[in-house]
Amino acid sequence: MNKKIWAIVAMLGLMYIVFLQMDIEASSQIQEKELNLKQPNLTQQLAFIAFLNTIDDAHDTKLIAIRQHEATHIPLYNLQEIRKPTDFIIQQEIVEPQEKPDEVVREKKKIALTFDDGPHPVVTEKILAVLLQNDIKATFFVLGQNVGKYPQIVHQAAKQGHEIANHSWSHANFTKLSGTQITAELEQTNEAIYKASGKYPNLYRPPYGATNANVRGQTSMEAVMWSVDTMDWKHRTPEKTLAYVKEQVKDNGIILMHDIHSETADSLEAVINYLIEQDYEFVTASELLKLQS
Ligand SMILES: [Zn+2]
Repeated sequence: MNKKIWAIVAMLGLMYIVFLQMDIEASSQIQEKELNLKQPNLTQQLAFIAFLNTIDDAHDTKLIAIRQHEATHIPLYNLQEIRKPTDFIIQQEIVEPQEKPDEVVREKKKIALTFDDGPHPVVTEKILAVLLQNDIKATFFVLGQNVGKYPQIVHQAAKQGHEIANHSWSHANFTKLSGTQITAELEQTNEAIYKASGKYPNLYRPPYGATNANVRGQTSMEAVMWSVDTMDWKHRTPEKTLAYVKEQVKDNGIILMHDIHSETADSLEAVINYLIEQDYEFVTASELLKLQS
């Protein structure tokens, strides 16, 4: 054979070897791309997620549509090769914001302080001073005859933001009066309150809490009784007043006291401190009724 033929044969042989090498490289590359599922590329991961989504309930249709589009580029057997979804899906922990207990807004318990039978030139003044100092609004169920004597105290109480309510003119037992008498007791007192405070009252409290259908039928005003009876008029002892409050007080309670006894004024600071300590918020009788309606 001549040199030319050998050269052609050698070249062909070399080309064959190069071709084989290329083929091997190419096929190994394909194999790796298609079958190396232990370290899947992004497309494979998305495809697998899409595959999972076809099984589970879909919740984000837009995202799943994109993933399903990606999935069309991956042969199904590749997807089915994958057994452990957690290998590929990064599970993001959802940290829910936790409310701190002291940040929870608690509805405060409500309590109404009410004072009957005044105004009194000394005791009511003392009580107004304590209430002002503690920034507390109370309700005064006044007697018309006392309003006539001390209108300036009613004026001052109203100016401080307290509620003025009707407790009759002469502290008569309404159940023993005629309709006309009841009306007179209430209306004269309403006028006296209006004259002193510039405002007509909305509420009344029948003396002794004595009432019946006849009494109720004489007025459109709302009657307000009490839920905590301090008996302050009877024992005249500040410690006992506080003890009765502690024993009977409840949310939405109405405390009955009398602003005509100096011992009641003396008990007030301790009563208020106890109620504040027990997390009560002070409201007027009208505010309390509004909250309950
Ligand atoms: Zn009374």
